[in-house]
Amino acid sequence: MSYQTILKKVEIEHHARLIAVSKTKPIDMIMPMYELGQRLFGENRVHEVVEKYDAMPKDIAWHLIGSLQKNKVKYIAPFISMIHSIDSIELAKEVNKQALKNDRVIDVLLQIKIADEDSKQGYEWSELELDCKNGLLNFTHIRICGVMGMATFTDEQAQVRSEFKLLKSYFDHLKSKHFKDQSSFSEISMGMSGDYEIALEEGATLVRIGSALFGSR
Ligand SMILES: *Cc1c(COP(=O)(O)O)cnc(C)c1O
Repeated sequence: MSYQTILKKVEIEHHARLIAVSKTKPIDMIMPMYELGQRLFGENRVHEVVEKYDAMPKDIAWHLIGSLQKNKVKYIAPFISMIHSIDSIELAKEVNKQALKNDRVIDVLLQIKIADEDSKQGYEWSELELDCKNGLLNFTHIRICGVMGMATFTDEQAQVRSEFKLLKSYFDHLKSKHFKDQSSFSEISMGMSGDYEIALEEGATLVRIGSALFGSR
């Protein structure tokens, strides 16, 4: 499907935002999408997002969507627009520390495990509830903007839909318990090339689409 078709579906029909996942793709494949007006791009590796940030126009909002090691936070802290993969209080603390050093507040999402697969990263819901009690919500230089999740990689649409519903219910729970008065807690990042239409129907505000836009990796 073309960029324009996907963009229309995401932004016009569902009032969500499209993150073009450009991981592994060279800059000469990414620039044409920038020229069409795309400004949100997603990468999953620190060295790659740093390289592309350095080489590309500075009005791009780079989203880090892959798992993040604490010792690499310092490389992205000066410029990253949003980190989708906060899954421990230690990582949140390090992002906070590096944000402070750079005199900025960094937008982040809490990644929550919703898939029926061991390999998927993210918080177990029970761990997240504990960390919320133990200071995760008190850091001054991160702004928790919502949640992120990845559904099981399966053709069973009903399963994928119920996992997205689960993520939406976690979002609603966190919102009412901890973020009632914070309009910035508003993002549900879910949906990839294979399942973004279901995600949009279930309330995604950010979809992360790679191969449907850039071709397979
Ligand atoms: C690669 C990736 C995507 C995009 O996957 P596609 O299937 O190519 O759309 C989305 N989210 C995360 C976390 C990814 O690593």
